[in-house]
Amino acid sequence: MRIPGFGKARRAARWLKRNLVPSALVLLYHRVAEVTCDPQWLCVTPQHFAQHLEVLKKFGPTLAVHQLEKALRQERISRKTMAVTFDDGYADNLYNALPLLEQHGVPATFFLSSGYLGQEGEFWWDELERLILNPGVLPKTLRVTVDGGTHEWDLGPAEQYGEEAFARDRSWNAMLPQERTPRQKAYLSLCSLLRTLLPEQRSHVLEQLRNARGAAGAGGRPSHRALSPEEVKKLADSSLAEIGAHTVTHPVLAALPVDRQREEIGGSKSRIEEILGRPIHSFSYPFGMQGDYTSETVAIVRDSGFACACSNFEGAIDRETNPYQLPRFVVRDWDRDTFVRFLEEWSRG
Ligand SMILES: [Zn+2]
Repeated sequence: MRIPGFGKARRAARWLKRNLVPSALVLLYHRVAEVTCDPQWLCVTPQHFAQHLEVLKKFGPTLAVHQLEKALRQERISRKTMAVTFDDGYADNLYNALPLLEQHGVPATFFLSSGYLGQEGEFWWDELERLILNPGVLPKTLRVTVDGGTHEWDLGPAEQYGEEAFARDRSWNAMLPQERTPRQKAYLSLCSLLRTLLPEQRSHVLEQLRNARGAAGAGGRPSHRALSPEEVKKLADSSLAEIGAHTVTHPVLAALPVDRQREEIGGSKSRIEEILGRPIHSFSYPFGMQGDYTSETVAIVRDSGFACACSNFEGAIDRETNPYQLPRFVVRDWDRDTFVRFLEEWSRG
């Protein structure tokens, strides 16, 4: 049955949603850098990041996450408001991202995993990439034990992995559908395994993998290091930078007992506040999909004194959005046109 005027009302509602109901968008970056191998597709080149900022400035107002949360609470949000965020705390955020943010006058929120600050070692997913996907020799059967259980990967001829093979495979990332090499399969399988382990179990697996690489297993790459506490202070000196927390060791919080979750969340907050000498207000969940944290996690974040938290599932933000689960869109190494298309698609809803 056709209801008279219904189509018109629906069109009007759509027009209202598009033009009057304010909505905001939070963008998620990790690194602004050029690297030889990026299996998680986390790096945006400085050239592309500059293009994104040029586009963003013309598109709508930009706020740091805590300002966005306050504006939402006070119902002062404008349409097409955007927030730029960075997860993890890579040193390139200070050296490559901040100068471009300042040049374009765009604020950003940097969520730091406090246990990595000032450490020589790499973030665990980067170390895994270095040990498995970089040139070097591994055992024909790669074997690690976790709590008495053994996990094995048959690398076959890929135990030897030279510069030529690396050059051929280096543009691969985990999102590509193409057939995977034995090294890539082992890497992805280890990623899944390490994600859900307790931090000390994860360290133990990485130690076994380092040993499997022999002398070449030691040492982190300066290009992949995290910020030092001094650099965190420098970053925070910028009026455009908000600093937030992202746990201590970057675990899947849902896989940890509640007391360990509390240590990860509260511990990162107090360490960063100790470095800065002032309170911080924003948090982001490691990995951040709905299965990576629980309702208990959200309650711990709130009870630890954070005003808001970012997740990692897609969605627009309006007055109804839970400030402790703000959706975000991961930005990839897109050129200007792709980024414009992404924003246009989002604003059309
Ligand atoms: Zn992260």
